[in-house]
Amino acid sequence: QVKAQRGNALCFFDPQMEVEINQRARLETDLQTALVEGQFELHYQPQFTLAGQMVGVEALLRWSHPQRGMVSPGEFIAAAEDSGLIVPLGQWVLRQACMQLAAWQQVPHCASLQLAVNVSARQFRQPDFAQQVIAQIQQAGAPAHRLKLELTESLVLEDVQDSIAKMHQLRTKGVRFSMDDFGTGHSSLAYLTRLPLHQLKIDQSFVRHIGQQHTDDVIVQTIIGMARTLELEVIAEGVETPAQRDFLADHGCTLYQGYLYGRPMPVQELVARAAQAGQGVA
Ligand code: C2E
Ligand code: MG
Ligand code: MG
Ligand code: MG
Repeated sequence: QVKAQRGNALCFFDPQMEVEINQRARLETDLQTALVEGQFELHYQPQFTLAGQMVGVEALLRWSHPQRGMVSPGEFIAAAEDSGLIVPLGQWVLRQACMQLAAWQQVPHCASLQLAVNVSARQFRQPDFAQQVIAQIQQAGAPAHRLKLELTESLVLEDVQDSIAKMHQLRTKGVRFSMDDFGTGHSSLAYLTRLPLHQLKIDQSFVRHIGQQHTDDVIVQTIIGMARTLELEVIAEGVETPAQRDFLADHGCTLYQGYLYGRPMPVQELVARAAQAGQGVA
């Protein structure tokens, strides 16, 4: 990373920096084109109970780039946030998710799935965010109580009053909330009790080191305990090994998401997988 230094004009012309600025500008233009030309798609990662029942999915955005192939959100969400494009992009994701929920009402093994959608801060801070979501649900004819919005601690803490107000507005319609990447932010029990949450999602960074780093074992146990105290669901993300699952299960975790169960996949694959799980093959 090159930073401009006071009194060193040469830094301003650093070629590496210029390359980075150009790349970012190019990325932002490409993202705009992608939205207009329909290059985005949602993939779905299944969520299971310990008994192997598929109870939900998380929608994860993918960019099907004409030259680069499938691009992951890690490579473009930050640019979409900086440029403001995350707002229309997030609206597209919500509309897509609501249409999927409505369509799944007629699909065996899919009708009772919860669908979780990631929401970015800039999107959530739109004054009419709650009304937008309600409108999307109604236009699609989606069952509101199957829609789950994933928020992060930093997003909520940015403006707690505003967050609580919007969450209550949506909660009244049946929409549920999960606290994503839980444990990585600055949570306190004091404000957690004030939020109309449904679920805590244990961040994958803690799950990854289960059995290797004692502090992470303790954090995982503490989060599960907090969820129980607050009477919330708890789901672990990034579960990759049977050992991680067993540790989580032993400490009372009820829901699981990760490569051990399935990667994010296109919708047709997910539907097939749901039918399989319905027959007890999970
Ligand atoms: P996230 O919401 O925490 O999603 C979990 C990420 O972990 C996903 O990465 C998922 O593919 C990955 N993952 C799932 N299971 C495993 C596992 O067992 N091992 C490992 N190593 N990774 C696993 P992905 O799809 O690349 O998404 C990254 C982040 O991008 C998401 O983190 C979320 O913050 C953001 N994102 C994705 N889709 C959207 C969207 O539609 N809107 C917004 N605003 N953000 C999104
Ligand atoms: Mg998420
Ligand atoms: Mg997460
Ligand atoms: Mg994460």
